[in-house]
Amino acid sequence: MIKLEAIEKSFADTTVLTGIDFEVDKGEVVCLIGPSGSGKTTLLRCLNGLEIPESGRITINGDSIAFSHKQKKYPINNLRRHTGMVFQGFHLFPHKTVLENLIEAPLIVKKQKRAPLVKQAEELLNKVGLLEHRNKYPDQLSGGQMQRAAIARALMMEPDVMLFDEPTSALDPQLVREVLKVIETLAKEGQTMVIVTHEMHFAKKVADRVLFMDHGVIIEEGPAENILVNPEKEATQDFLQLLV
Ligand code: ADP
Repeated sequence: MIKLEAIEKSFADTTVLTGIDFEVDKGEVVCLIGPSGSGKTTLLRCLNGLEIPESGRITINGDSIAFSHKQKKYPINNLRRHTGMVFQGFHLFPHKTVLENLIEAPLIVKKQKRAPLVKQAEELLNKVGLLEHRNKYPDQLSGGQMQRAAIARALMMEPDVMLFDEPTSALDPQLVREVLKVIETLAKEGQTMVIVTHEMHFAKKVADRVLFMDHGVIIEEGPAENILVNPEKEATQDFLQLLV
Protein backbone atom coordinates (compact mmCIF):
# COMPACT_ATOMS: atom_id res chain seq x y z
CA MET A 1 0.00 0.00 0.00
CA ILE A 2 2.87 2.37 0.85
CA LYS A 3 6.47 2.23 -0.29
CA LEU A 4 9.14 4.78 0.65
CA GLU A 5 12.51 4.59 -1.00
CA ALA A 6 15.60 6.56 0.02
CA ILE A 7 13.65 9.56 1.32
CA GLU A 8 15.81 12.57 2.24
CA LYS A 9 14.42 15.74 3.78
CA SER A 10 16.15 18.86 5.12
CA PHE A 11 14.99 22.18 6.54
CA ALA A 12 17.53 24.83 5.49
CA ASP A 13 20.87 23.28 6.50
CA THR A 14 19.44 20.68 8.87
CA THR A 15 18.95 17.15 7.59
CA VAL A 16 15.80 15.76 9.19
CA LEU A 17 15.29 12.47 7.30
CA THR A 18 18.12 10.34 5.92
CA GLY A 19 17.71 7.34 3.62
CA ILE A 20 14.25 6.37 4.82
CA ASP A 21 13.05 3.07 3.31
CA PHE A 22 9.97 1.25 4.42
CA GLU A 23 6.81 -0.42 3.24
CA VAL A 24 3.35 -0.74 4.70
CA ASP A 25 1.03 -3.54 3.55
CA LYS A 26 -2.68 -3.16 3.04
CA GLY A 27 -4.46 -3.56 6.38
CA GLU A 28 -1.27 -3.13 8.37
CA VAL A 29 -0.96 -0.78 11.37
CA VAL A 30 2.50 0.74 11.77
CA CYS A 31 3.44 2.89 14.76
CA LEU A 32 6.35 5.36 14.55
CA ILE A 33 8.08 5.93 17.87
CA GLY A 34 11.22 7.78 18.92
CA PRO A 35 12.52 10.83 20.76
CA SER A 36 11.17 14.30 20.12
CA GLY A 37 12.82 15.83 17.06
CA SER A 38 13.73 12.45 15.50
CA GLY A 39 11.70 13.19 12.33
CA LYS A 40 8.49 11.18 12.92
CA THR A 41 6.08 14.01 12.14
CA THR A 42 8.11 15.13 9.11
CA LEU A 43 8.02 11.58 7.75
CA LEU A 44 4.25 11.37 8.22
CA ARG A 45 3.79 14.78 6.57
CA CYS A 46 5.86 13.61 3.57
CA LEU A 47 3.32 10.81 3.08
CA ASN A 48 0.55 13.28 2.27
CA GLY A 49 2.60 15.98 0.64
CA LEU A 50 2.56 18.48 3.50
CA GLU A 51 6.35 18.28 3.29
CA ILE A 52 8.22 17.67 0.05
CA PRO A 53 11.36 15.49 0.24
CA GLU A 54 14.47 16.56 -1.69
CA SER A 55 14.97 13.07 -3.06
CA GLY A 56 13.61 9.54 -2.96
CA ARG A 57 10.35 8.02 -4.08
CA ILE A 58 6.95 7.63 -2.44
CA THR A 59 4.38 5.19 -3.79
CA ILE A 60 0.89 4.90 -2.33
CA ASN A 61 -1.56 2.37 -3.77
CA GLY A 62 0.03 2.43 -7.21
CA ASP A 63 0.57 6.20 -7.51
CA SER A 64 4.22 7.10 -7.39
CA ILE A 65 6.24 10.32 -7.19
CA ALA A 66 10.03 10.49 -7.56
CA PHE A 67 11.49 13.56 -5.87
CA SER A 68 14.58 15.38 -7.03
CA HIS A 69 16.51 18.50 -6.03
CA LYS A 70 15.89 19.99 -9.46
CA GLN A 71 12.12 19.82 -9.42
CA LYS A 72 9.88 22.28 -7.52
CA LYS A 73 6.34 21.13 -8.38
CA TYR A 74 4.83 17.67 -8.07
CA PRO A 75 1.36 16.20 -8.69
CA ILE A 76 1.03 15.84 -4.93
CA ASN A 77 -2.73 15.25 -5.03
CA ASN A 78 -1.95 11.84 -6.51
CA LEU A 79 -0.60 10.88 -3.08
CA ARG A 80 -2.90 13.00 -0.97
CA ARG A 81 -6.10 11.47 -2.33
CA HIS A 82 -5.08 8.12 -0.86
CA THR A 83 -4.54 9.46 2.66
CA GLY A 84 -6.57 10.88 5.53
CA MET A 85 -4.67 12.87 8.14
CA VAL A 86 -5.47 13.40 11.83
CA PHE A 87 -3.42 16.08 13.59
CA GLN A 88 -2.49 16.66 17.23
CA GLY A 89 -4.56 19.84 17.31
CA PHE A 90 -7.76 18.50 15.60
CA HIS A 91 -7.92 21.30 12.96
CA LEU A 92 -11.72 21.30 12.70
CA PHE A 93 -13.41 24.24 10.94
CA PRO A 94 -14.50 26.34 13.97
CA HIS A 95 -17.50 28.02 12.32
CA LYS A 96 -19.01 24.77 11.00
CA THR A 97 -21.02 22.18 12.91
CA VAL A 98 -19.65 18.68 13.40
CA LEU A 99 -21.84 17.38 10.56
CA GLU A 100 -20.80 20.22 8.24
CA ASN A 101 -17.15 19.54 9.09
CA LEU A 102 -17.60 15.97 7.90
CA ILE A 103 -19.36 16.68 4.62
CA GLU A 104 -17.34 19.76 3.58
CA ALA A 105 -14.44 18.05 1.75
CA PRO A 106 -16.42 15.42 -0.19
CA LEU A 107 -19.04 18.07 -1.06
CA ILE A 108 -16.48 20.56 -2.41
CA VAL A 109 -13.56 18.37 -3.53
CA LYS A 110 -15.41 15.31 -4.78
CA LYS A 111 -18.56 17.26 -5.71
CA GLN A 112 -20.75 14.53 -4.22
CA LYS A 113 -24.46 14.97 -3.46
CA ARG A 114 -25.43 16.30 -0.04
CA ALA A 115 -28.10 13.77 1.02
CA PRO A 116 -25.98 10.60 0.73
CA LEU A 117 -23.06 12.45 2.35
CA VAL A 118 -25.22 13.37 5.34
CA LYS A 119 -26.21 9.71 5.67
CA GLN A 120 -22.56 8.58 5.44
CA ALA A 121 -21.53 11.27 7.97
CA GLU A 122 -24.23 10.18 10.42
CA GLU A 123 -23.11 6.57 10.17
CA LEU A 124 -19.51 7.59 10.90
CA LEU A 125 -20.57 9.88 13.76
CA ASN A 126 -22.52 6.98 15.24
CA LYS A 127 -19.41 4.81 14.96
CA VAL A 128 -17.24 7.33 16.86
CA GLY A 129 -20.02 7.98 19.42
CA LEU A 130 -20.87 11.52 18.34
CA LEU A 131 -24.20 11.24 16.55
CA GLU A 132 -26.05 13.23 19.22
CA HIS A 133 -23.48 16.03 18.88
CA ARG A 134 -23.77 16.39 15.11
CA ASN A 135 -25.23 19.91 15.24
CA LYS A 136 -22.74 21.29 17.77
CA TYR A 137 -19.79 23.54 16.95
CA PRO A 138 -16.23 22.43 17.80
CA ASP A 139 -15.96 24.82 20.77
CA GLN A 140 -18.94 23.05 22.37
CA LEU A 141 -17.04 19.73 22.39
CA SER A 142 -14.36 18.24 24.65
CA GLY A 143 -10.90 17.61 23.17
CA GLY A 144 -11.64 13.90 22.91
CA GLN A 145 -14.90 14.59 21.08
CA MET A 146 -13.13 17.01 18.73
CA GLN A 147 -10.50 14.43 17.91
CA ARG A 148 -13.15 11.75 17.28
CA ALA A 149 -14.91 14.20 14.94
CA ALA A 150 -11.59 14.83 13.16
CA ILE A 151 -11.12 11.08 12.69
CA ALA A 152 -14.66 10.73 11.29
CA ARG A 153 -14.00 13.67 8.98
CA ALA A 154 -10.84 12.05 7.60
CA LEU A 155 -12.74 8.77 7.08
CA MET A 156 -15.38 10.53 4.98
CA MET A 157 -12.93 10.62 2.06
CA GLU A 158 -12.57 6.82 2.32
CA PRO A 159 -8.77 6.98 2.37
CA ASP A 160 -6.64 3.94 1.64
CA VAL A 161 -4.37 4.98 4.50
CA MET A 162 -5.09 6.90 7.70
CA LEU A 163 -2.18 8.96 9.08
CA PHE A 164 -2.22 9.98 12.74
CA ASP A 165 0.21 12.53 14.18
CA GLU A 166 0.27 12.07 17.97
CA PRO A 167 -3.53 12.04 18.03
CA THR A 168 -3.81 12.06 21.83
CA SER A 169 -0.95 14.30 22.93
CA ALA A 170 -3.13 17.44 23.20
CA LEU A 171 -5.73 15.63 25.34
CA ASP A 172 -6.30 15.43 29.07
CA PRO A 173 -5.43 11.90 30.27
CA GLN A 174 -9.06 10.92 30.89
CA LEU A 175 -9.94 11.69 27.24
CA VAL A 176 -7.10 9.70 25.69
CA ARG A 177 -8.83 6.31 25.99
CA GLU A 178 -11.94 7.26 24.02
CA VAL A 179 -9.80 8.34 21.06
CA LEU A 180 -7.53 5.29 21.21
CA LYS A 181 -10.61 3.03 21.30
CA VAL A 182 -11.82 4.50 18.01
CA ILE A 183 -8.40 3.90 16.43
CA GLU A 184 -8.39 0.33 17.78
CA THR A 185 -11.77 -0.29 16.17
CA LEU A 186 -10.41 0.93 12.83
CA ALA A 187 -7.41 -1.38 13.23
CA LYS A 188 -9.71 -4.37 13.81
CA GLU A 189 -11.65 -3.44 10.68
CA GLY A 190 -8.46 -3.67 8.62
CA GLN A 191 -7.88 0.04 8.00
CA THR A 192 -4.28 0.65 6.92
CA MET A 193 -2.76 3.16 9.34
CA VAL A 194 0.52 4.89 10.15
CA ILE A 195 0.50 6.35 13.65
CA VAL A 196 3.05 8.60 15.35
CA THR A 197 2.54 7.99 19.05
CA HIS A 198 4.06 8.29 22.51
CA GLU A 199 1.50 5.83 23.92
CA MET A 200 3.58 2.67 24.18
CA HIS A 201 0.78 0.52 25.69
CA PHE A 202 -1.42 1.53 22.82
CA ALA A 203 1.33 0.81 20.27
CA LYS A 204 1.81 -2.63 21.80
CA LYS A 205 -1.89 -3.33 21.49
CA VAL A 206 -2.64 -1.94 18.07
CA ALA A 207 0.57 -2.07 15.98
CA ASP A 208 1.42 -4.91 13.64
CA ARG A 209 4.84 -3.30 13.31
CA VAL A 210 6.76 -0.63 15.21
CA LEU A 211 9.46 1.60 13.70
CA PHE A 212 11.90 3.27 16.06
CA MET A 213 13.41 6.49 14.68
CA ASP A 214 16.31 8.55 15.98
CA HIS A 215 18.06 11.51 14.32
CA GLY A 216 16.14 11.09 11.07
CA VAL A 217 16.98 7.42 10.61
CA ILE A 218 14.95 4.23 11.15
CA ILE A 219 17.10 2.49 13.76
CA GLU A 220 15.06 -0.71 13.94
CA GLU A 221 11.67 -2.07 13.05
CA GLY A 222 9.71 -5.22 13.70
CA PRO A 223 6.68 -6.68 15.45
CA ALA A 224 5.55 -4.59 18.44
CA GLU A 225 6.54 -7.25 20.97
CA ASN A 226 10.12 -7.37 19.61
CA ILE A 227 10.73 -3.63 19.41
CA LEU A 228 8.90 -2.57 22.56
CA VAL A 229 9.81 -5.51 24.81
CA ASN A 230 13.10 -6.84 23.44
CA PRO A 231 14.73 -4.18 21.30
CA GLU A 232 18.13 -5.05 19.87
CA LYS A 233 19.60 -1.59 19.42
CA GLU A 234 20.98 0.44 22.30
CA ALA A 235 19.24 3.65 21.17
CA THR A 236 15.85 1.89 21.32
CA GLN A 237 16.64 0.39 24.72
CA ASP A 238 17.66 3.84 26.06
CA PHE A 239 14.51 5.47 24.69
CA LEU A 240 12.19 2.86 26.21
CA GLN A 241 14.06 2.94 29.52
CA LEU A 242 13.36 6.68 29.83
CA LEU A 243 9.63 6.04 29.56
CA VAL A 244 9.48 3.59 32.46
P1 ADP B 1 9.33 14.44 15.81
O1 ADP B 1 7.98 14.31 15.18
O2 ADP B 1 10.06 13.13 15.89
O3 ADP B 1 9.32 15.17 17.13
P2 ADP B 1 9.82 16.38 13.73
O4 ADP B 1 9.62 15.69 12.43
O5 ADP B 1 8.70 17.25 14.23
O6 ADP B 1 10.24 15.32 14.82
O7 ADP B 1 11.11 17.30 13.65
C1 ADP B 1 12.36 16.82 13.21
C2 ADP B 1 13.34 17.97 13.15
O8 ADP B 1 12.97 18.86 12.10
C3 ADP B 1 13.39 18.81 14.40
O9 ADP B 1 14.73 19.17 14.62
C4 ADP B 1 12.56 20.03 14.06
O10 ADP B 1 13.00 21.15 14.77
C5 ADP B 1 12.81 20.18 12.57
N1 ADP B 1 11.68 20.77 11.86
C6 ADP B 1 10.44 20.23 11.74
N2 ADP B 1 9.65 21.02 10.99
C7 ADP B 1 10.40 22.10 10.62
C8 ADP B 1 10.17 23.27 9.83
N3 ADP B 1 8.98 23.49 9.26
N4 ADP B 1 11.20 24.13 9.69
C9 ADP B 1 12.40 23.91 10.22
N5 ADP B 1 12.69 22.83 10.97
C10 ADP B 1 11.72 21.93 11.18
